[in-house]
Amino acid sequence: MSTQFTLHGGIDTIGGTIIAVMCEGHRLIFDMGRVHHAKLPAFDAVLLPRSIRDLQHSGNAPQLHGVFQGDEEWDGKTLLALSHNHLDHTGLLPYVQPQIPILVSPDTHHMMTALDLVSDGFRKPLNYEEIPFGQVREFGPFRILLTPVDHDTPGASAMLIETPDMRMVYSGDLRLHGLHPNWTEDFAAMASAFKPDVLWIEGTRSPAVNNDNILKERDIEPALVEGLHTATGAYFTFYPRHPERVHSFLNAVKATSRTLVLTAESAYLFDEFEGPTASDTFLLLSDDEQTWSPALAQRVKERGWKTISSRELHGRDREFFVQLPYPLLGSLIDIKPAQGSKFFHMNGNPLGPHELAWDNLHRWLQYFGVDFVYTGSTGHGSRSDIHQLILQIDPRVVMPIHSLQPQRIGVSHIARILPVLGKAYTQSDLQTAGCPTQAELDAANAD
Ligand SMILES: [Zn+2]
Ligand SMILES: [Zn+2]
Repeated sequence: MSTQFTLHGGIDTIGGTIIAVMCEGHRLIFDMGRVHHAKLPAFDAVLLPRSIRDLQHSGNAPQLHGVFQGDEEWDGKTLLALSHNHLDHTGLLPYVQPQIPILVSPDTHHMMTALDLVSDGFRKPLNYEEIPFGQVREFGPFRILLTPVDHDTPGASAMLIETPDMRMVYSGDLRLHGLHPNWTEDFAAMASAFKPDVLWIEGTRSPAVNNDNILKERDIEPALVEGLHTATGAYFTFYPRHPERVHSFLNAVKATSRTLVLTAESAYLFDEFEGPTASDTFLLLSDDEQTWSPALAQRVKERGWKTISSRELHGRDREFFVQLPYPLLGSLIDIKPAQGSKFFHMNGNPLGPHELAWDNLHRWLQYFGVDFVYTGSTGHGSRSDIHQLILQIDPRVVMPIHSLQPQRIGVSHIARILPVLGKAYTQSDLQTAGCPTQAELDAANAD
């Protein structure tokens, strides 16, 4: 039987990508994300799904036979693969049958295991199968290879997938303005040599023409130094899953004679990926100490990290740079920030106005007189970056995904399919796909 593939999620949303490729009775499914869809009923921290069935029956998860708990048993002919650890690519994993192998890069495996131990991880043993970058994993008629791309978390991968009659490339999430643009560039070169029939590429920032209005990863440190010089109290949020960024924080506090204060979770992940970390590198905020997992408490003890509470931070505004993630905003009550304090938002939840907590974050900051300053750097390439990659890879067909406006992505001489949810595509769909006209592309990007 010839190869066919179906997109089960992540077409007109940022994340939630689930693509199933079938060939000769074998099935490869990559990414298992969960996202909020603007038009669907949502679950939240209070309104919880009882099982995968609740997610499926509300449109928040696909029906995939033999994958989720309660389905028929795993048949040995299904393999999952993950591009990276972000929740919009892994959020359905808690519902997956634990015996199904899940192909991951070594750093993705490391991060998933670390999250299981110390934070909002899945806390359930899953059957991860680590595969070094560049090594081919054979699975029935499939040959699968992971290769690194630059994104804002360790282990992020693109995938090259081959069956007897189709060559496929999945970009995962990627950027060219991070600290490792060569990873993304090398992926594009490798994908180009692979001569894919289809390229699934992310278009998160399809409305952004270029990177003129964003901070690049290397811009964060100077922006922080400038901001910290003029701030009294200084607080921040970021993704603890991006431990490499902590180096920018450490350099910025050094340049401004402050001390970095991290949550224990962030310290643990930094220590895991960038450590080992000496006891005087930073202080830990002790406000959430009662929630530390045994592994976290053990690491704090082993490293001899010192703690400080929000009460002890009061009145010493200019001495510190304090991580205050959303769940710890209540610490502002004890800190009582001085006038002229700033909150540096460097990604992390809530991410933006599409999240319910966004307004509340701003209310907390306004009430305590703290100025909001965005100092983050996105993990996603601009439209021109994505177009540059498409041109270089030169697939037979490009399918833009992982985007609120996938129609903005495309070039006039490369065939494009704007994918339809649940449709089974075959080689003949790819052979007959047409190129978007320049007028069509211009209209999509008219604003
Ligand atoms: Zn994503
Ligand atoms: Zn991501």
